[in-house]
Amino acid sequence: MHQNQLYERILGLSTPWFVSNVDLDESSGLVEVQVACDPSARLYCPQCGQLAPRYDKRRRQWRHLDTCQFQTKVVADVPRVCCPEHGCLTIQVSWAEGNSRYTALFEAFVIQWLKEASIQAVSRQLQLRWTAIDGIMKRAVKRGLAARTSPDVRFLSVDETAFRKGHDYVTVLSNHQGQVIIVEDGKSADSLSRCYLALTETQRTSIESVSMDMSRAYRKATFAHVEKAHRKIAFDHFHIAQTLSEALNATRKSELHSVDASLRRVAHQSRYAWLKRRDRLDERERATLSWLSSQFSNTTIACYLKEKARKIWKGNRVEVPGPLGKSGYG
Ligand SMILES: [Zn+2]
Repeated sequence: MHQNQLYERILGLSTPWFVSNVDLDESSGLVEVQVACDPSARLYCPQCGQLAPRYDKRRRQWRHLDTCQFQTKVVADVPRVCCPEHGCLTIQVSWAEGNSRYTALFEAFVIQWLKEASIQAVSRQLQLRWTAIDGIMKRAVKRGLAARTSPDVRFLSVDETAFRKGHDYVTVLSNHQGQVIIVEDGKSADSLSRCYLALTETQRTSIESVSMDMSRAYRKATFAHVEKAHRKIAFDHFHIAQTLSEALNATRKSELHSVDASLRRVAHQSRYAWLKRRDRLDERERATLSWLSSQFSNTTIACYLKEKARKIWKGNRVEVPGPLGKSGYG
């Protein structure tokens, strides 16, 4: 196969494009692939797709994947057409996107590397400036968004994420399939409001639930933008469990001061046992908590409520104890 044809195959060229020449500059370690456009080919306006007369041409070049150890660039005189409606425009080439200075295959290669390594490492290894990598990433995001079908927004989840060592926050709105719908700067009510406002009216009315931490700001934004928010907000499991554990611990500490001094040491030693799930206590811990329960009645109740909350979460039926129900607790 002739080297021109070889490069036509590698670049995926088809009419009116063809490789006119390939130059190897060994001293600078560079392969230059010259691509030309058939002068008799009919050209079309890139805006409206109408047949348009050829106007002039612009020399452009793109970095392509290396040929063995040689950096490879594609050079072409790209025709401009003169559309009666849209004026003079450069036609779109098939191997690169918009005004990018990199071929589509090279951009795909950079994106693959960015999944494996830091921007700094990719920049160093591929000899690319940060601004070039930024442009490649932005185009990839744009392509991804354009290819995305309308996401399911019935069951949403909102979370704050820190970056730059916790100095900056973003609010991330995603759906139950783990698809990120919108990301906005900050973690305020305004941040989440902007996320909701980026959805269409139809999407907002289709929301059935929003899972979140117990942030006041997120609740405020949800009440402002989601109809019947009081029936749709679901606090996520982790934050509820954390709040209940904190309440239990605070109750235990407050009771510690009122118990007999002789019990304090063993009560202090049992501090982790109170926070454990009941079915994960060993025999010794179970006996200790049972022994302490008369002195730590409020902590015992708090412990019971935490355990019941876990069962509610699991979807189990909860029997109300004491005067309101039949069963006792324990
Ligand atoms: Zn046009």
